[in-house]
Amino acid sequence: MKPGCPRFKDHPVKNIGPENGSVIAYGSFFRACDSRQVKRFRCRVCGFCFSQSTGTRRYRQKKRRIVSPLYRLLASAVSQRRAARLLGVDKKTVVRYFRFIASECLEREQRRLSNYKYEPLSRVQFDDLETSEHTKLKPLSVALAVDPDTRKILGIQVSRMPARGTQAKVALKKYGKRRDERKWGWNRLFQSLVPMVKPDAEFFSDQNPHYPPVVRRYFPFARHETTPGGRGAIIGQGELKKLAFDPLFALNHTCAMLRANMNRLLRRTWCTTKTVRGLKEHLAIYVDYHNRFLTES
Ligand SMILES: [Zn+2]
Repeated sequence: MKPGCPRFKDHPVKNIGPENGSVIAYGSFFRACDSRQVKRFRCRVCGFCFSQSTGTRRYRQKKRRIVSPLYRLLASAVSQRRAARLLGVDKKTVVRYFRFIASECLEREQRRLSNYKYEPLSRVQFDDLETSEHTKLKPLSVALAVDPDTRKILGIQVSRMPARGTQAKVALKKYGKRRDERKWGWNRLFQSLVPMVKPDAEFFSDQNPHYPPVVRRYFPFARHETTPGGRGAIIGQGELKKLAFDPLFALNHTCAMLRANMNRLLRRTWCTTKTVRGLKEHLAIYVDYHNRFLTES
């Protein structure tokens, strides 16, 4: 099939489209970076020459071969530097492709989530997972919602929060006041759930006192059941609980999966998040991989 001219908008005569031969085949070339023969085309109206990849997201990429393996490595607890070494490219190249893959994953995930509006969910589990940017004194909170039946991640939001406990004083002295953005994170998460979940659905969470108002705000007719969080077990990254029966198992299991498969979330890792943007993008990649390959459809 012949594509339309990418410069169709600038044509003096608009009624000559690709169907009546404004675009003609114009040979092909060998693309060395992925060993493919790529077709070229020429527009007879404006004389513009282009190829199959003109206008696509991967236009002018030089390392197309690493996209798919890098995607799998980043969702399998491999650091960006080690991925660069394994794939034989520079670490800066990995960062560029990391961002590219994240944007693709985000788009695909958005499409997947939009399908829930045809079959809204009646049960949702949600909670927060804690990590930090650059230092433990700058904690981050990752709010996530999970479908308990399929363990698919329904939404994820990253927000900054101030340090707590013994670290609070040191953090205040060293880095100044840090705003607590978790409330906005929960609001964003629940706002995104509105089209995907039935209004009279059941929500399950731990006994965080901040949760009930948020649930009531977006789902006034829903039932919200809370359970006390058990003590973390050593297995399951401290996310799986030492309970005979864990009512929040799907959620805790998902948190453990996040920790085990994103090396920046591993306990006692020396591979830390440097920026919120980086964490968000890495989460986008993992969530896409988790929902596509690690959970049943
Ligand atoms: Zn043209």
